[in-house]
Amino acid sequence: MKYVFIQLCLTLICFGMNAQNTKVIAHRGYWKKDGSAQNSISALQNAAELKVYGSEFDVWLTGDNRLVVNHDKKFQGHDMEHITFAEAVKVKLGNGESMPTLSEYFSEALDHPELHLILELKSHVSDEREREAVLGIAKLIKAYGVADRTDFIAFSLNAVKEFVKVMPDADVYYLEGDIEPARLKEIGCAGLDYNIHTIKTHPEWIKEAHDLGLKVNVWTVNNREDMEFLIAQGVDFITTDEPQLLMEILEEK
Ligand code: MG
Repeated sequence: MKYVFIQLCLTLICFGMNAQNTKVIAHRGYWKKDGSAQNSISALQNAAELKVYGSEFDVWLTGDNRLVVNHDKKFQGHDMEHITFAEAVKVKLGNGESMPTLSEYFSEALDHPELHLILELKSHVSDEREREAVLGIAKLIKAYGVADRTDFIAFSLNAVKEFVKVMPDADVYYLEGDIEPARLKEIGCAGLDYNIHTIKTHPEWIKEAHDLGLKVNVWTVNNREDMEFLIAQGVDFITTDEPQLLMEILEEK
């Protein structure tokens, strides 16, 4: 009986510790708040106000090799790889804000020093353009002094390798979900950032990653059941469109 009680206490303590360890990342910012839009400056501000660990956003290299923040490759009749910088800054998001440049995003982040930035480089048409994008990002990271709180994520393995090469001290995560933790470590990743369905197919990758000293981020987790499952598994980060719900669940633990 005593043994069962001790086991129960240890389980509860472990669950509590796991809950404390799991951090909230707002997917494309906290854009569900009234008046905001995905990947907007206000979505970044809202994420900071909610006091989440981090805010994720997507980056494209324009046709004239400048960096802007947006998700879709085709957006309001433009192709993000062909649009010019001058055209991009004139594009209005759904809430009337202008499409942010990466400089504007970093500049705003300076007002929110506690917030971590999770920068996704979208997959571009060629390895050369991804390299050009990574070099440009590295320059801005240095200029704004945000290296210590910016992590990099990409579906493109080429982009992941470029980030590792150009910024060897940075934490880089791979998104595609088709590479096991041991191989990611060899590539130089800080961890994996995989879809919830991939993690449910390979739940063993969580422990494998942790045993290798890698971190685990899971996207895009928007319901309570999945959030509670992942918290119990001790994942390091959950990326969600519902950061407020996840914050509430973590506070309950
Ligand atoms: Mg993204």
